[in-house]
Amino acid sequence: MTEFRQESNSFSPVRSTLEQWRQGGILDPEQVHESLAGKPCAIGGMIQALEDHAADAEVVHGTVMFSQSGGIAEQAVMDHYLERLVPQLEACLPLDGVLLSFHGALQTTEFDDPEAEITRRVREIVGDRCVIATSTDLHGYISQDLVRDADLIVGYQTYPHVDFFETGYRTAKLALEAIAGGTLEMAWVPIPMIVSASAYNTLEGPFRDLIEHGRAMVDEGRIIDFTVYQMQPWLDLAEGNSSAVVIAADRESAAAGARELAQRLYAARHEFTPNLMSIDEIIDLAEDPDTPKPVILVDSADSCNAGAPGDSMAVAARLLERGSEIRAATVVNDPAAAAEAHRIGIGGRATFEVGRAHDPNAVSIKAEGYVRSVHDGEFAQEGPAGRGMINRIGTTTVLRFGTLDTVVCEWMAGNGDPQLYRAFGIEPTLYDLVVVKANTSFRAAYTKFAGLICEADTPGSAAADLSRLDFRRLPKSMYPWTDTEEIEYPVHFGRDRSTTGGRA
Ligand SMILES: [Zn+2]
Repeated sequence: MTEFRQESNSFSPVRSTLEQWRQGGILDPEQVHESLAGKPCAIGGMIQALEDHAADAEVVHGTVMFSQSGGIAEQAVMDHYLERLVPQLEACLPLDGVLLSFHGALQTTEFDDPEAEITRRVREIVGDRCVIATSTDLHGYISQDLVRDADLIVGYQTYPHVDFFETGYRTAKLALEAIAGGTLEMAWVPIPMIVSASAYNTLEGPFRDLIEHGRAMVDEGRIIDFTVYQMQPWLDLAEGNSSAVVIAADRESAAAGARELAQRLYAARHEFTPNLMSIDEIIDLAEDPDTPKPVILVDSADSCNAGAPGDSMAVAARLLERGSEIRAATVVNDPAAAAEAHRIGIGGRATFEVGRAHDPNAVSIKAEGYVRSVHDGEFAQEGPAGRGMINRIGTTTVLRFGTLDTVVCEWMAGNGDPQLYRAFGIEPTLYDLVVVKANTSFRAAYTKFAGLICEADTPGSAAADLSRLDFRRLPKSMYPWTDTEEIEYPVHFGRDRSTTGGRA
């Protein structure tokens, strides 16, 4: 098993470099089990499934590379991975199965769909008889190329994502069944639509209903597994789609299931429009003593989880311009400002310029600030998603501007987790307004204590309002650019394994 996982944002002005991936984590094969067994991640789930269901199997690990979301990855990153993976695979042939942990929405400077290219390379090496199973995020872009070379494609069924481990587990368990000779047929139906990520989740509404429908299909025995992919909307690719993948005991059932989920998703497309408010409308609410607190202002446009640079001070700028006296908290990526605060030290005052560290179009502020604290930037997520996973955000400080506390970090991670504030002395429940730079992931933790959650119409490379984004390559024949009832639901099947056969 091996991992190569990042979510790309085509609109970010910053490329993802090998250095950024090193910060996320690059594990050599001998480090994988010790680092990830039992951890709430896909590889952790794969390891567990193999221990539960194939205790006698000989398991070999490959390189694991993971990075926080970011701009398009430099090709050197993918080359680095393949240079390691290829000899690792060649050294342990023949293989019965390969488990690949991907995100699914990675883009490199050379490949729109690097996951398909990697899978193609893996297939070339391991041959036709080997079962290749991939674990992905439900925001992945699934292509016909990937379907051609992977036997099983399995994705998250929750958003906010809380089933990383379970998805890895499902992937490995299905792969074991296929290796044992079980008939598992996969059908894939592309759906010509993308919608704002903040507009759907599995806690409520039409997307939850769709997932529940899929689960019922599994419970009734009609299908074995399903994933509904909502391609994340910050990918500007020459081809793109949302899609449904269904695994069933026979092709007819897989096709019928995938078509049914695809039709239901497309039929609900108008229900995924986000309800956005202006920054000032949200500040007005937070200033109103009758509004339950804290008010969570969702600045998803600058979400690092969605690959944005995290360097926008758009909300902070409005708070300062208005002279608002509410207790507010925000977080920003600005390595120079963080380093400056460390140099000045706790208790110092200076005029700080904060924001626009990476994106030349981002909003920054210039104001006198007070250095409340300085930190090494390491914290453990409280979860529920990824509980206990360690995040590192580099040189970090908390600067106070009037009544606004700002976590300033070298690079941001764990955006949806309250520890991004709590670990640095900011208790969100004691604030009137808290800026959260995430789309939906934050709901898993914040819903419990938020007075009100408001999605803001903010600028940035992960803007919730898709019309703010400059799509140049994605075909405009898809929704929302083209809105028609008359679409086709073409069914494509995975590899025909009846000719190659599984083997025990
Ligand atoms: Zn996702």
